[in-house]
Amino acid sequence: MALTASPVLDTAEELNPFRIAMSQFDTAAELLRLEPDLREVLRRPRRSLSLSLPVRMDSGKIHVFDGYRVQHNNSRGPCKGGIRYHPNVSFDEVKALASWMTWKCATVNIPFGGAKGGIICDPRKMSKGELERLTRRYAYEISDLIGPDRDIPAPDVYTDSQIMAWIMDTYSMTHGASSPGVVTGKPIWLGGSEGRNEATARGCVFVARRACEVLGIDLKNATAAVQGFGNAGSIAARLLAKSGFKIIAVSDSRGGILNRKGLDVASLLAYKEKTGSVAGFSGAEKISSEAVLELEVDVLVPAALENQITRANAEKIRAKIVAEAANGPTTPAADTVLHKKGIMVLPDILANAGGVTVSYFEWVQDLAEDFWEEGEVNRRLEKVMGKAFDDVHRTAKEYAVDMRTGAYILAIGRVAKATQSRGIWP
Ligand code: NAD
Repeated sequence: MALTASPVLDTAEELNPFRIAMSQFDTAAELLRLEPDLREVLRRPRRSLSLSLPVRMDSGKIHVFDGYRVQHNNSRGPCKGGIRYHPNVSFDEVKALASWMTWKCATVNIPFGGAKGGIICDPRKMSKGELERLTRRYAYEISDLIGPDRDIPAPDVYTDSQIMAWIMDTYSMTHGASSPGVVTGKPIWLGGSEGRNEATARGCVFVARRACEVLGIDLKNATAAVQGFGNAGSIAARLLAKSGFKIIAVSDSRGGILNRKGLDVASLLAYKEKTGSVAGFSGAEKISSEAVLELEVDVLVPAALENQITRANAEKIRAKIVAEAANGPTTPAADTVLHKKGIMVLPDILANAGGVTVSYFEWVQDLAEDFWEEGEVNRRLEKVMGKAFDDVHRTAKEYAVDMRTGAYILAIGRVAKATQSRGIWP
């Protein structure tokens, strides 16, 4: 497991995210009967950069941080992928996340390849000045790799629009021209897109609603639980509530809360804004973060980190639909159990692809220097996500597999086609 330890983990289970990503790829490549040479090309990252980043801390001392940028594949367009700041970042985790980006962009059919970056650090314990110096040093070190037509970073766990602004500025300073298209998830006033902040959650809610339609679940009486109350999770809770769902439980790194009559999401958001956590919210009982996953609900949204639904707790999952706002929350062993139980898992490469889709819109707007209203962004997002859901659902039915394998078959097929047409050079 790469991030936050869960007490229910089974040590015999494969929890290395890169090996998990490889095994998900292999399962689908086998069903696609992908030729062995092409399989070897597509499963590996194209470039993997490991960095030592010296930063002068506020104490006056220098601390050397470890950072990474991995470009998995660029057959279908420039590489695209977020940057994560977290104490448990690892090279293998970044490689896994980079490959998931390749399959994600192909699933929603946007013209990007996949990349990801990460720095081992705890931004919650760093000052703003330290974060800026670390970010600029990292941006400088990767500035030969990134660029609007090469590789375009974005926010991920514990990174935000301010960090994107520093990266954009560092890149622009070293390249001699202002270059807003080098990152997405920027502040609106620097060329960011309307709707980008909500896009991951909005896309997740679009596909969760489509899945409810397919399964005949009435939204007016539907219930949901959300693990992780950060950018993706808190906005998903708000948008699900707006769609008619009763949100009965949520959690963050400090624990969970439950109210079977439904949480007041607006008050909860205000409470979290004030205290930094959902823990201690009045009008709800305290439960563990693990227990939030095991509630009987129509839709469960894991929106925290990897390896949360494993072989150890998969049998206890009672949701009808699992909509993966997080990347990699379900292990392959757990996938098999959930599939047997008849639970529809909307895989990360589909369910959280709204973020990268609106990042693509942001990049298009930056290059065209022509900016859209939020309604336009959301309409286009709904169209892309609806089409992606239908494509994945159709592929899963055609191959008689779960939705994750269906998404991989669809995505790998698209990337393989592009790679074959371009050919292997020289
Ligand atoms: P974030 O930092 O805003 O939020 C993460 C949340 O998870 C925080 O509330 C944190 O307290 C909580 N958390 C951490 N450990 C937990 C635990 N053990 N139990 C319960 N909660 C826990 O990050 P985010 O941007 O919302 O990203 C969350 C997930 O969504 C990640 O897997 C990320 O890769 C994925 N994702 C995010 C985006 C995006 O646009 N932000 C896009 C695609 C995928």
